[in-house]
Amino acid sequence: MLDALPQLREASRDAWIKQAIALGYLSEERPRGCWLRPDRSQVINGDATVVRPPSDQTEEFTHDEKTGEMRRRRVDPDAGIQIEGGDRAVYGKKIVSFSVRLPERAHSRIILNASGARHRSPEEDPDREEEASTALRLAHEILDRAPGVIAAVFDTAWRGTHRARLVARGIVVYTPQHDGISPRPLNKYRYDHCIHDVYAAAGRSCERRISVDGQTIYTPLPVRELPMRSGVNSRRFYHAVEIPCRNGPHIELIPVYETKEDRTLDPRTKRPKFNRCEHLRQIPPNTDLGDRLKGFRQDSESTNCTLDYSHWDKRLPAYGAPGALLIYLGFAWMINSIALGTVGEPRRRPTG
Ligand SMILES: [Zn+2]
Repeated sequence: MLDALPQLREASRDAWIKQAIALGYLSEERPRGCWLRPDRSQVINGDATVVRPPSDQTEEFTHDEKTGEMRRRRVDPDAGIQIEGGDRAVYGKKIVSFSVRLPERAHSRIILNASGARHRSPEEDPDREEEASTALRLAHEILDRAPGVIAAVFDTAWRGTHRARLVARGIVVYTPQHDGISPRPLNKYRYDHCIHDVYAAAGRSCERRISVDGQTIYTPLPVRELPMRSGVNSRRFYHAVEIPCRNGPHIELIPVYETKEDRTLDPRTKRPKFNRCEHLRQIPPNTDLGDRLKGFRQDSESTNCTLDYSHWDKRLPAYGAPGALLIYLGFAWMINSIALGTVGEPRRRPTG
């Protein structure tokens, strides 16, 4: 049965994406919002959850102190200590999934794609695919089948290199910003009577100034627009930023996609010159628009919680990652069936 799991996963994914499009989600025609404020039905939301195995045993043989007997225990071969929600250690297996839903409509969630992520060391598992890569693959698979997607939201497991590949496909990618990224010079804009020193700091372009007591201050530049241009093989996003100035504001276009120049190798470090999507974000974090997209992520907690509480002792009754994924696929079919039965129905209005 489990030999057919990859085909079952792919067939399920294709059917789920069709179901979503049939409900008007990920549509290329219906009202869709804009790049900065996409309609929720056009935003795919990814998350990883750790599912617990039937038992927490980690030792195959245990010694009974009273009887002196050696007892054999069943151990989940794929379970391990995983980090969930950024800081919580849970013993189990990781499953990554993407979903989409309507705003303010109960039971409207459609799970679009799912797969297991494997985190063992490369020596133990040469074909491992950790959470960020798994999520990237799932997002690409969805974009291949649903060109109407406007934005993808994920957690901090996605760094600049992951985001850059989806940005190039012409969507907005939002994740919270990693801490501890140092400001980096972008450009010195020289005009007739003034010079402005622009840096990338906290995920956006900022003007660098030095205060009277020698402190460096990065002032965020207002982003007026997020224009997108179509290239031959990829899409290019820019920030139209306004640099406030005593001589009147200057408007500059700053790329927020990974440019050809960014990818060229620095002769000193032998690494790409600029990981732009790590430093400059299409929708800067800690803005109203960013917080709105971040708020969409709460929905995955609800899915994860339903999954846990649907099973006895919040454990999936399967040893091994393939078995857990099989159960998850069935769960997703159930969730999607509820959405199909609910969203197709007229909205019930409160009476009285
Ligand atoms: Zn100026």
